[in-house]
Amino acid sequence: KVKGGGRNDYRIFDKALDSEAHDRCRIECELHEAIAADALQLHYQPIVSLADGGVCGMEALVRWPHPTRGFMTPDRFIDIAEDSGVIVQLGEWAIQRACRDAALWPDHVKVAVNISPSHIKKRTLFDSVARALAQHDVKPQRLEIEVTETVLLRHDDEILAELRRLRSLGVSVVLDDFGIGYSSLSHLRMFTFDKVKIDRSFVGEITERPDCAAIVCAIAGLARSLGMATTAEGVETKQQLKLLRAAGCTQAQGYLFGRPQPAAAIDLATAVRTLAS
Ligand code: C2E
Ligand code: MG
Ligand code: MG
Ligand code: MG
Repeated sequence: KVKGGGRNDYRIFDKALDSEAHDRCRIECELHEAIAADALQLHYQPIVSLADGGVCGMEALVRWPHPTRGFMTPDRFIDIAEDSGVIVQLGEWAIQRACRDAALWPDHVKVAVNISPSHIKKRTLFDSVARALAQHDVKPQRLEIEVTETVLLRHDDEILAELRRLRSLGVSVVLDDFGIGYSSLSHLRMFTFDKVKIDRSFVGEITERPDCAAIVCAIAGLARSLGMATTAEGVETKQQLKLLRAAGCTQAQGYLFGRPQPAAAIDLATAVRTLAS
């Protein structure tokens, strides 16, 4: 009985793996089609300057309204896109779309686009960025490219060169999710970033845990002495905001100011009112 059950379990396990692999394959295919059909969307979340209380940026976050799987957020498909290489097409599409949408907001509002390491590695990024900026008549100073620390893990000179080319164009290069990666500090001397975004895991615990508050203070101070701005990610409460200000963060982003929304739905004044009240 035990033996039989065991064999059966194996089969079920195999089947589960099989159908998961199959599902990933399907999603990969469907994602290709969705990009080609222009069926993906960018939602935008405001980034607020703590110096003057105004909206200084919008982060573009991809959304996929899927005909049968529902409204999908990136956690359902970014990994698959990365593994299969579709992430490059997704990134090119996002840059085009974000540069087009930038025209909706005043010049002092930057637009931030997340770009994957494998895309930067392709070394076509610089050309597509330059093309999109020119096509939509957007100043390079208005574009921020967000990369995570994994981009620096490979100590890859080609990646660093591509990032430097972007910076020389006037585009800002931003280090996303800072602090959770492996050997974060050493990354700050590998490349001159314009800004670091303090990971939301620190921000989320800043009011309960003095050690998190100390880490945020240290990151903000370090960033300032290196001439970089800091965005605190995932700010949800006024108490968090108060401590982040005290820590010396220069910008904040999170549900407190606004959830990611379609560009047309965004009211620039709302985030500002949140900060003032
Ligand atoms: P990220 O770049 O760190 O983006 C911030 C994430 O935190 C977003 O999740 C956003 O919706 C969420 N968030 C913002 N404020 C709050 C808050 O106050 N509380 C909480 N709990 N969450 C908050 P989202 O949109 O699901 O994106 C997840 C990740 O997927 C992004 O993390 C980014 O790494 C990746 N991603 C999103 N769009 C793209 C894209 O177009 N291309 C690439 N390569 N990656 C993308
Ligand atoms: Mg980001
Ligand atoms: Mg982040
Ligand atoms: Mg993230």
